[in-house]
Amino acid sequence: MNSFRFYNPTQIIFGEGTADTVGQQLASVGAKSVLLIYGGGSIKKSGLYDRVIKQLQEIGAKVVELPGVEPNPRVSTVRKGIELCRSENVDFILAVGGGSVIDAAKAVAVGVPYEGDVWDFLMRKAEIRGALPLGAVLTLSATGSEMNGSAVITDWEHQLKKAFGSIYAYPKFSILDPTLTYTVPADQTVNGAVDMMSHVFEQYFSLTTDTPLQERLCESILQTVIENAELALKEPTNYAARANIMLCGTYALNGGMISVGMQNDWATHMIEHEVSAIYDIAHAAGLAILFPNWMKYVYRERIDRFVQFAVRVWGVDPNGKSDEEIALAGIQATRDYFSRIGAPARLADLGIGAEHLDQMAKETVRFHPVGSFKKLAEQDVRAILEMSL
Ligand code: NAP
Ligand code: FE
Repeated sequence: MNSFRFYNPTQIIFGEGTADTVGQQLASVGAKSVLLIYGGGSIKKSGLYDRVIKQLQEIGAKVVELPGVEPNPRVSTVRKGIELCRSENVDFILAVGGGSVIDAAKAVAVGVPYEGDVWDFLMRKAEIRGALPLGAVLTLSATGSEMNGSAVITDWEHQLKKAFGSIYAYPKFSILDPTLTYTVPADQTVNGAVDMMSHVFEQYFSLTTDTPLQERLCESILQTVIENAELALKEPTNYAARANIMLCGTYALNGGMISVGMQNDWATHMIEHEVSAIYDIAHAAGLAILFPNWMKYVYRERIDRFVQFAVRVWGVDPNGKSDEEIALAGIQATRDYFSRIGAPARLADLGIGAEHLDQMAKETVRFHPVGSFKKLAEQDVRAILEMSL
């Protein structure tokens, strides 16, 4: 196990009915002028918007709104938010939505005190040195953005999708009311399950040794998602299923609690970002296609971890099989599970051909080779993309 520091300042308020405590939370942090950020309207349809506005009025806060955050949020929308914060003297940002809305809120938050253009942070041209405080009401279990300091933002004009991470971007609080996810449609429920499983994969497939607790934490999250996602698909208002999935999403990516002392990978996420930068597909749809192919490309780097994954997570019977056969059976089980819950298997399923493979491969390694389980150079990324066609 490597030495590590772990710090996570986000307060989690979890449970049925907690959405009605957002006013109280905002009052407790002294919010007076609030930027309310949300997406394309799901919160209006569900009635959550009215519930939040009522509470903001009750505490006497001034409300400024930034609606219309896109899935795969755009830097143009972030810039609008930054302008609004400055012109309206906003002192607190409240994100109400899924990962896209929370990511956009984080980018606005770090952009406000910065004199240059917020995109500098995504291109690693400037360091984040402060932010407006933000809080979140989560409506979709997937990204873990509610309890981490990362955000992924798209520059649509230049076909770029990049990420930043900063201690300043952690929400002060996040409200996790599983009942808010009852209205999440089947495809987004699937996307959420795939995304959180992928976050675990990025940490679990590590070359670091002597980390039994972290490995078992990862395996438990995977098993809990696997057990509950199908139940949530069958019974969208099953509280236990929605609550268990919500907790898994938050644990899977909250500043690395499940993988402290382990080297992480993140290559597949980096590759996926470049696919959705060009094709605007759902993040997890790309991950469902790419991850089993990444696994096939890298498993020989450390076959014992893939054997353990197959046996512990998927219940592959190791008797009479070689390590190679067990590892491959685990990868196949992953693929089969993704397909069974309705996630795509090939880029062709999303109408994506070979036209932009070079561009995507090149952009993935713009800053450096990606991954640590196996360091991937441009030609490796291209090979994985080709396997995914
Ligand atoms: P999302 O893009 O936030 O939302 C997807 C769709 O679900 C939207 O159309 C949204 O509609 C709808 N939706 C949300 N809550 C709903 C509800 N309760 N009922 C019905 N519909 C609902 O999805 P996401 O998977 O959470 O976020 C994806 C983004 O996060 C990608 O850009 C990805 O790259 C990024 N990401 C971030 C991190 C991180 O650590 N920060 C990690 C992984 C991925 P409305 O717009 O109408 O609300
Ligand atoms: Fe993700």
